[in-house]
Amino acid sequence: MSLIVQKYGGTSVANAERIKNVAQRVKRSRDQGHQIVVVVSAMSGVTDNLIRLAREVHGSPDDREMDVLLATGEQTTIALTAMALHAMGTKAVSLTGAQAGIVTDGVHTRAKIANITPRKVHELLDGGHVVIVAGFQGVNESGAITTLGRGGSDLTAIALAAALKADLCEIYTDVDGVYTADPRIVKNACKLDEISYDEMLELASLGAKVMQSRSVEFAKKFKVTFSVRSSMNDNPGTIVKEETRKMEDVVVRGVSVDKNQSKVTIVQVPDRPGVAARIFKAIADAHVNVDMIVQNVSELGLTDMTFTLNKDDLPRARKVIEPLVKEIGAKGFTCTEGIAKLSVVGIGMRSHSGVAAGMFEALAAEKINIQMISTSEIKISVVIDAAGADRAMNVVHGKFGLGK
Ligand code: ADP
Ligand code: ASP
Ligand code: MG
Repeated sequence: MSLIVQKYGGTSVANAERIKNVAQRVKRSRDQGHQIVVVVSAMSGVTDNLIRLAREVHGSPDDREMDVLLATGEQTTIALTAMALHAMGTKAVSLTGAQAGIVTDGVHTRAKIANITPRKVHELLDGGHVVIVAGFQGVNESGAITTLGRGGSDLTAIALAAALKADLCEIYTDVDGVYTADPRIVKNACKLDEISYDEMLELASLGAKVMQSRSVEFAKKFKVTFSVRSSMNDNPGTIVKEETRKMEDVVVRGVSVDKNQSKVTIVQVPDRPGVAARIFKAIADAHVNVDMIVQNVSELGLTDMTFTLNKDDLPRARKVIEPLVKEIGAKGFTCTEGIAKLSVVGIGMRSHSGVAAGMFEALAAEKINIQMISTSEIKISVVIDAAGADRAMNVVHGKFGLGK
């Protein structure tokens, strides 16, 4: 008998039919004698709708209340999934994040899991129940509902698998696994049989929303091997695991694009020690994650400083930067929307050269202008105009021979 954690995303529970399909799959695993913990997301579109509703009521809704609101999406699905299992004669109980013992820090709308005490989950499993846990949510130390950031049900599943020492963790979604690029953008993308944590982490944090990046970070830290597979068929999917030597033979594993980026330039910043620290400390204190940072060569003691961030964080960042510009004596600042970050990822890049040149050549051939460049050991990212992002992704994917 194995303990299996199965996570089903929004499209997999999008309507009553799909929920019954999930219940059928869960029942099949349960009937094979396994203990099953199911993590479900909100039905697809529900979280987005709730966010829209909140903004209709208040331009900048309170984060605590946002969490109370958004957590209802997953709460709906756990109950419906439990009911669908009951209808098939399978014992099942639903639990909210708090009831499942998922305790987080206090940062509403993007909380981090502090610890999990899954006593109730174990009790119910021992009693022969399928346990259905609401993804994406927890509770802070003072008892308030928190949520784990968009796509956070992946994190719930991985973290529960670690806490329960599960034998298997399966992330069921609407594609057959992790592909060399988003199969909706690159039609000839290939499914990968396996991928290392580091590559998955880079692809996810650079825009491949098939896995929430924080969940991959967590899996790497606690060595949770997991698979990504389809809830609509029995194809084997992609195994995400620790790197093996063979994996380094592949230079570029995949390409990803992040269209949710904005760019901020602070113009004519006085070039003296402590200014960068002042700017980025203030932005960090507002819980805004800054991504690429470029500082120009200084001319006459002044420099321009450009950075990218998630476009949803732009209003929050603006609030901080406005007074800061005056304080540090900069000339002003500009914000650019409509940009995208395109990246190639692969652990093989550590030992192979020429990837950057290949990527830039492919973009040059399509007359796509590169606005910013950043590299790490296993990835190269460029900022380009969002309008050409899909075309750029296809040509770069083709350049490295990743297509079918
Ligand atoms: P779920 O609702 O199951 O969590 P998501 O919509 O969050 O599913 O993630 C699945 C989607 O991720 C796919 O439909 C696909 O369009 C997108 N995606 C982006 N990049 C990739 C990739 N490299 N491989 C597979 N899917 C990807
Ligand atoms: N429902 C949440 C979201 O849409 C969490 C998830 O689906 O993983 O982001
Ligand atoms: Mg998801």
